[in-house]
Amino acid sequence: MFDPFEALVLSTREVSESDLLVNFLSEKRGRFLAVAKGARRSLRRFVNKLESGHLLRVYLRPGRRGLAPILEAADLLWAPERLRRHPRGFALAGYFLELCERSSPPAEGRELFSLLRETLRLTEQYPDLPGLKPYFEFRLLRLLGWAPEFELCLACGGRIRESAFFSFRKGGVVCRGCASEEDRRLTPRTLGVLRALNRLSLKALPRMILPQSVIRETGPLLEAFLLKVLDQDIKALKVLRELDHGTGARG
Ligand SMILES: [Zn+2]
Repeated sequence: MFDPFEALVLSTREVSESDLLVNFLSEKRGRFLAVAKGARRSLRRFVNKLESGHLLRVYLRPGRRGLAPILEAADLLWAPERLRRHPRGFALAGYFLELCERSSPPAEGRELFSLLRETLRLTEQYPDLPGLKPYFEFRLLRLLGWAPEFELCLACGGRIRESAFFSFRKGGVVCRGCASEEDRRLTPRTLGVLRALNRLSLKALPRMILPQSVIRETGPLLEAFLLKVLDQDIKALKVLRELDHGTGARG
């Protein structure tokens, strides 16, 4: 048996009549799979534990050669209980979980663990907080090594002052002189917010006041850039968009 450690449940999948394959993210092992034997038969040791977004202490033993380890037991440390009554917050948490799953190959993603854990806690506390989604996307991009540049023009190296354009191809801002037709113009306020998001700690996020107009501009920009970098279909995004459709809410 390995020493127990903390892990977040990203997703689960049925693998036989009684077993579940659980996708975890942890600081210790990065993303990994484990088999929970008998979990589908509602064994007491797993009841209400193996659900997406739950933080567990896991007890693993090695699987047979080359196979996923066996989840012997788990202690529930935290669950996003309040999100069950908040559809958008729940969908947002699902989006964060899926992004971590999609962006981390097996055994990688250790550095995403604390970001995901703290963001899920904040999502439960403030499910309507406008900056949550762009903030998470920004941090994730940074941890994956794709931090967009917002200070210097990526073409000429000049400092960006008033007019900035975002280049998806270059992964950051370019100045007016270097911008091409496909680049997206950023208002000075949006540029300011993007720079602030870059410096802000997650704890300070609830105190940041973001006007809807800025959310409408920054939100889709970071989302589009992240999707381009990941080059994957994120299913949870469809749910989020459906929820936002009609309400005009974003963020
Ligand atoms: Zn330039």
